[in-house]
Amino acid sequence: MARPKHKEHHRTARVGWLRAAVLGANDGIVSTAALVVGVAAAGTDSRTILLSGLAGLLAGALSMAAGEYVSVHTQVDAEDADLKQEKAELRDEPEAELRELTNIYVNRGLDQALARQVAEQLTARDALGAHARDELGITEQQAPRPLQAAFSSAASFTVGAALPLAVVLLFPGTRLVPAISIATLVMLALLGALAARAGGANVLKGATRVTFWGALALAVTATMGTVFGTVTA
Ligand SMILES: [Zn+2]
Repeated sequence: MARPKHKEHHRTARVGWLRAAVLGANDGIVSTAALVVGVAAAGTDSRTILLSGLAGLLAGALSMAAGEYVSVHTQVDAEDADLKQEKAELRDEPEAELRELTNIYVNRGLDQALARQVAEQLTARDALGAHARDELGITEQQAPRPLQAAFSSAASFTVGAALPLAVVLLFPGTRLVPAISIATLVMLALLGALAARAGGANVLKGATRVTFWGALALAVTATMGTVFGTVTA
């Protein structure tokens, strides 16, 4: 008889990509809004403000993509090197590797005889897989994909950056700085709450944390813009 399916709702798998997407969008909103507010506070005309914002969007998205690609690729390279070395060790010193695997299971709470038996059976089935998983912590499902990571962080940055740019189009002139500030903080609070909710954390705390840093960024560039605008006017 089939057992009823055991359902567990683990959040870690879902949080991985969601966290990356929220971080990207967050970056896009904060950096573009801060850039636009800084330029606008200096009394720049709206065409230049929009142009700066667009340049900021492109620069940010490309730099996110490049950074993510390099970082994930580095991780892939390191894992490949680990697996290659493991393969060689399994070929050259199978008995030492079996002892190593046995010890790992002993450390996790199995007694010596059972650990040895588990290690032997897993080795017979897929030695490299067992060492990759239990010694190196590398699993197939988690295999990182550099291009996918690069694309998704660039895309989420762009989505985030589009928000302050839309506000630039909607609110020209003196209403721009307060409009962008309010829109940015509201969006950040929503994103922070969403991320916290998905991760099972406190929603209010998540929203407050993100909003605080966004407000700080806006305040800093607005001050800079005002100072420079006054000096150069
Ligand atoms: Zn090993």
